[in-house]
Amino acid sequence: MEPALRPKTLDEYVGQERLKKKLRVYLEAAKARKEPLDHLLLVGPPGLGKTTLAHIIAYELGVKIRVTSGPAIEKPGDLAAILTNSLDEGDVLFIDEIHRLSRQAEEHLYPAMEDFKMDIVIGQGPAARTLRLDLPRFTLIGATTRPGLLTSPLRSRFGIVEHLEFYTVEELAQAIRRDAALLGLEVEEEAAQEMGRRSRGTMRIAKRLFRRVRDFAEVAGERRITLERTLEALRALGLDELGLEKRDREILETLILRFGGGPVGLVTLATALAEDPGTLEEVYEPYLIQLGLLKRTPRGRVATEAAYRHLGFALPMDPLL
Ligand code: ADP
Repeated sequence: MEPALRPKTLDEYVGQERLKKKLRVYLEAAKARKEPLDHLLLVGPPGLGKTTLAHIIAYELGVKIRVTSGPAIEKPGDLAAILTNSLDEGDVLFIDEIHRLSRQAEEHLYPAMEDFKMDIVIGQGPAARTLRLDLPRFTLIGATTRPGLLTSPLRSRFGIVEHLEFYTVEELAQAIRRDAALLGLEVEEEAAQEMGRRSRGTMRIAKRLFRRVRDFAEVAGERRITLERTLEALRALGLDELGLEKRDREILETLILRFGGGPVGLVTLATALAEDPGTLEEVYEPYLIQLGLLKRTPRGRVATEAAYRHLGFALPMDPLL
């Protein structure tokens, strides 16, 4: 059996220092008061560690965590079942993709969050009755990649709203060194740094990259992960120096070659790529924007000069010159 690589405690959770500092205060205060932690909303692109952090918070509080997601809760009854059957006082309920909760389920969540009560309707028509359920005082941790889609009544019911940041190369390298050590492997410093550089600031990608590089090392019969083997694996995976994958480059290429570098609307661009607009916006764009390769303007998406240079295209002539 492989050791669990997922960090269990706040100390093992790499980076996000500002957030961790605040969380330590909130956790300590809640524990000292013997009260559940305030409801917490974690915002950030996929793979930055929102789910992991929710587990860590429950662990640090010494309570159980129940995990579900917005799309899994369709009817108010689904929510009632979770809230009444599986939670004890102080427990954490984690709802991933909370922006995808149905409106109906969301409205039932308000009194649950605020007063730890839930109204359910039993029966139909004139015989219908409303039953008010008392719930254990729990902590809701919501995670979202798209805070803009959250309704303001829901958002305002979170006492704490925190954004996760992209990781630095050093933080990603640190997490890779930690995983390597747990697996009893050595990793060359430059190899860890290289993997960090190609991971788009995203922990999930760093971990995945490390696993692939490790495959290459193991097949070559090496217990030490070298820069050379890392570069070989990265080449095989089709990752360029900025950590862009084929799909990222296709997005920029389409923007440049088909739309003259933009501006072009999200939906038009997504259609040209046969991609879902939500995925384009949530999964691909944040890193391209962070690298300064793509810009969101009021008139649409624009490829920057850096994008032209990175892909080796000549810069377009400025029509005004
Ligand atoms: P999200 O919920 O934001 O999509 P996850 O919590 O699923 O992200 O994290 C993705 C992967 O990265 C998991 O394997 C997790 O263990 C790891 N991970 C995330 N954040 C950290 C961190 N700060 N330190 C170490 N590992 C992390």
